[in-house]
Amino acid sequence: MAYIAVIGTGYVGSVSGACLADFGNWVTCVDKDAEKIRSLEKGVIPIFEPGLDAVVERNVRAGRLRFTTDMAAAVKVHPIVFIAVGTPPTEDGSADLQYVEAAAREIGQAMEGYTVVVDKSTVPIGTGQKVIRWISEELHQRGRDIPFDVVSNPEFLREGSAVYDFTHPDRVVIGTDGETARKIMKDVYRSLYLNETPFIETNLESAEMIKYAANAFLAVKISFINEIANLCEKAGANVQDVAKALGRDGRIGPKFLHPGPGYGGSCFPKDTRALANIGRACGEPLGIVETVIASNERQKLRMVDKIEAGLGSLSGKTIAILGLAFKANTDDMRESPAITIAEGLVKRGARLRLWDPAAMKEAAWRLAALAEPEGTLYFAADEYDALKDACALVLLTEWNQLRNLDLTRVKSLLSLPYFFDLRNIYQREEAEAVGLRYYGVGK
Ligand code: NAD
Repeated sequence: MAYIAVIGTGYVGSVSGACLADFGNWVTCVDKDAEKIRSLEKGVIPIFEPGLDAVVERNVRAGRLRFTTDMAAAVKVHPIVFIAVGTPPTEDGSADLQYVEAAAREIGQAMEGYTVVVDKSTVPIGTGQKVIRWISEELHQRGRDIPFDVVSNPEFLREGSAVYDFTHPDRVVIGTDGETARKIMKDVYRSLYLNETPFIETNLESAEMIKYAANAFLAVKISFINEIANLCEKAGANVQDVAKALGRDGRIGPKFLHPGPGYGGSCFPKDTRALANIGRACGEPLGIVETVIASNERQKLRMVDKIEAGLGSLSGKTIAILGLAFKANTDDMRESPAITIAEGLVKRGARLRLWDPAAMKEAAWRLAALAEPEGTLYFAADEYDALKDACALVLLTEWNQLRNLDLTRVKSLLSLPYFFDLRNIYQREEAEAVGLRYYGVGK
């Protein structure tokens, strides 16, 4: 059992805090966003993350989980402090470390005894050393000599299944040079340790590199199958058969071989750009990663071309988009392909009818710039409302709710029978059987 403060209660901080409490630790979650904290205190989870509400409720009731905006007070009394703040991309693609620096400095200003500072945010290689420097500078300012260790403990959870992923990780990475900190981290994750989850113990820099390398590799896999899909379309092959056979090869594996409109979200786009940046800065450019970034941008725009090639000029046409979140089971639209595709369609003169099971609130502000002239965007009440009098359905997110559409009803609501299934959810035969003109990716 450990006493932990978690700084930042976004997607990673809220899940980490709640699940660490579920492991039997005493956790205080801190955020500078007072509205978020008020909402969490009332048991209202500000993000859409299945199962998180139950974990929060259970642990708040047990007294193991608390929320506060008072970082100094939390740091003073907790010997372990996780940093889980955002590391968004800057204009040149590198990671913006201002929130990590602010958190580290605030820790240095407030800590009173030996503290293990755990970096859970995804940060460039070398950031752990900077965190040591920032905390030391603040302690120096205070004229205090308080011992502390910094640990890199990257997070691999997937939004949409974050609670499961946090509690059933493929591995836990602990990067530190401090022997005491290493022991304390094992105590924090004691429940997993007893379940024989593999622990990778290494130094700070390797742990930081592991997270970027993992995300870059997955992005490579997605872009690889997207390019194979594009070639399949030209060559008369079916990418789903190709991917199935590839995935059966134990050296390759079946995951991340689903072609689609390009990867998005808060991690892959920013982390690949940040890693490419680090490579260039170190004089070791990562050609594969650079190529994947460009390939993914092309893939999103290719979807706009595909729709135009099917429909002809988009000027004045109304198109329904179902699915706006970057993937199913989240309301997160950060760098969602839906944004680029919606922009591309509107630029070419289309009007859009939009719907998503969870991301409507996000879409309202993220797509606000496209709303002029009036009537360009319509935010629908449900999936079938979105289809009314649209000349095409574009399916962009693989929500379960969208896997089982009544295709006869779809056909009857559309003014023209075009169906762009950009997640390859449906079979061409079933769509064509009701009179829809079907376009998938790579088949
Ligand atoms: P987020 O933007 O959802 O949340 C960050 C939170 O930190 C916000 O609530 C913000 O108010 C708070 N914050 C910022 N500075 C603060 C400060 N000084 N004091 C207190 N609170 C502060 O971000 P996220 O998606 O949770 O990502 C956090 C980190 O985890 C990033 O580095 C990200 O790359 C990494 N990560 C994210 C995922 C994911 O699926 N979202 C997965 C693995 C790793």
